[in-house]
Amino acid sequence: MLLRKTPLVAAFCAAALVVLLASSPSEAPGAHGRSKPMPAQAERTDDRSSDAALASDPSANDTPSPNHHVATVGKGDTLARILTRAALAPTEVHDIAQSLGDVYDLRRIRPGQRIEMTLRPSDDESPTLRRLILKVDPRTDILVTARADGDGFTAQTLEKELARELTRRGGTIHDSLYLAATRVGVPASAISDLIRIYSWDLDFQRDIRDGDRFELVYEQLIDEDGRVVGTGAIRAAAMTLSGDRRMLYRHQLKDGRIDYFDAEGRGARKALMRTPINGARLSSGFGKRRHPILGYSKMHKGVDFAAPTGTPILAAGDGVVERRGRNGSYGKYIRLRHNATYSTAYAHMSRYAKSIYVGKRVRQGDVIGYVGSTGRSTGPHLHYEILKGGRQVNPMRVRMPSGEKLAGTELARFESTREATDRLWAAMVSDAQVARVD
Ligand SMILES: [Zn+2]
Repeated sequence: MLLRKTPLVAAFCAAALVVLLASSPSEAPGAHGRSKPMPAQAERTDDRSSDAALASDPSANDTPSPNHHVATVGKGDTLARILTRAALAPTEVHDIAQSLGDVYDLRRIRPGQRIEMTLRPSDDESPTLRRLILKVDPRTDILVTARADGDGFTAQTLEKELARELTRRGGTIHDSLYLAATRVGVPASAISDLIRIYSWDLDFQRDIRDGDRFELVYEQLIDEDGRVVGTGAIRAAAMTLSGDRRMLYRHQLKDGRIDYFDAEGRGARKALMRTPINGARLSSGFGKRRHPILGYSKMHKGVDFAAPTGTPILAAGDGVVERRGRNGSYGKYIRLRHNATYSTAYAHMSRYAKSIYVGKRVRQGDVIGYVGSTGRSTGPHLHYEILKGGRQVNPMRVRMPSGEKLAGTELARFESTREATDRLWAAMVSDAQVARVD
């Protein structure tokens, strides 16, 4: 399931072609009849639409046989310059550029993009273009084909489906999850997804100990040359903290929503986030402490996260803005009401996010304001409170109201997802290509 020998071969061929054709412009293949026909597998680098192009070309079987030309856009290159380097006649260059310009803004052509051309050489004049593919990005090609009647070109945009390949990574955490995952090749986007799906349950600042483990199976997006060009979804993940293993499965509900659930079908998404800010350091916990400004012991009824002024503050859960404004020593302050029992409060903001006003509905993760140091504060930080029945509780200790628990047919559907994922997971453990570093 993981082998991708064929795309790698294709990638090698494409690279070889680029090198082959990177010779000086005056020696461009086709210009002086010096080009060699490309090896057979090179013809397969683009399998889409070549059959259609051949079928629509009445002279496809004429000699001499067409040749392939791959160019990589260089610094300061224009389409016209590239086509001219391929020895096409000026009228042909003009017609191709006009046709391509109908579907793609030619000013957006940039260094590194690849242009594949199929040319029909001619003994006594310039070669003619039969087909051109501009690789816009891993998902998009522009295809230009010569009209069957020989009168100009037609261009179209081709949206490609990227192949998805599953990969499994795991490791032991000694310093941070981020470093441990980076070390085994997990890209940053997958790491932040991993943190996000566990963020309802884990405080990555406090709960991680030396020796804890992480594992995940995620999708890599593969382009037609076999290159990894992006990261798709995490299908399943496991965090083992002090020996306690918590597994989460990706599952699509009947209504189309996609979410993560534990093995019993409980949603990973809890009602409230414990840390409604990214990348911040917990600088002061909940409880009795010597107040840094007042100088005497006082109950600290929230938790403080040190972060630079301007760091976005997120709504800890779905809810309604109940209060927004100056609130004495809290400075600029927002309180959200989440349900009959829970509210959250955010203090010392430098400013509120636009469109945050009393009565506004917010979704979990929406930016509601920005870190500052207004009110009684010694430096930029977020003071965060969770209120249960109107009384402040310790955000790090409070038992969160649980999220969704699947039941009935929805639970049965989830169980089949879980079983399929478990089989996949087990198969990948024994796979020789599994990258595991301990
Ligand atoms: Zn505080």
